[in-house]
Amino acid sequence: MAGLPTKLRLQIVSADRSLVNETVDEVEIPAADGYFGVLPGHTPMLASLAVGEMWYRKGQEKTYLSLANGFCEVLPDRVTILAQIAERAEDIDLARAEDAKRRAEQRLQNAKDVDYERARTALVKSLARLQVASRSQFAGRVGRQRMPPPQA
Ligand code: ATP
Repeated sequence: MAGLPTKLRLQIVSADRSLVNETVDEVEIPAADGYFGVLPGHTPMLASLAVGEMWYRKGQEKTYLSLANGFCEVLPDRVTILAQIAERAEDIDLARAEDAKRRAEQRLQNAKDVDYERARTALVKSLARLQVASRSQFAGRVGRQRMPPPQA
């Protein structure tokens, strides 16, 4: 009888490319009802993704990505993420994310005639991108910093 798996095969595909296809030790994912962690042997499940930061760990090394919307399938030895948008830290244009954050904040402050939900989503996306981009300077360290809860 096969034992419990000790590793996870992680695949991350976005609308326009395949970003990750690796064997990893642990994954944390922003789902619609909160962040959840996956270790090998996890119970099978399907989850909707939220806008937020995800990470995966290989040994002591964590890699961070920003995700926005899509689905995630968890099996005991496999995690598959189909995201509408997924970006690694090095893909993120910091100035663009800062501009998006400023725009969203201005819209939310002048709350008249604003599509509140759209502005809030833009703000959360920009914050996730800025957070992931800032991680690159900590690359390789396992830290405990956290994003605020993900927004569906
Ligand atoms: P913006 O307001 O700056 O256009 P957005 O949040 O509306 O950003 P999205 O609709 O989330 O943009 O994404 C559209 C495409 O642009 C995606 O391919 C996404 O990866 C890319 N993108 C958006 N913002 C950034 C960024 N700061 N750095 C790199 N790529 C980005």
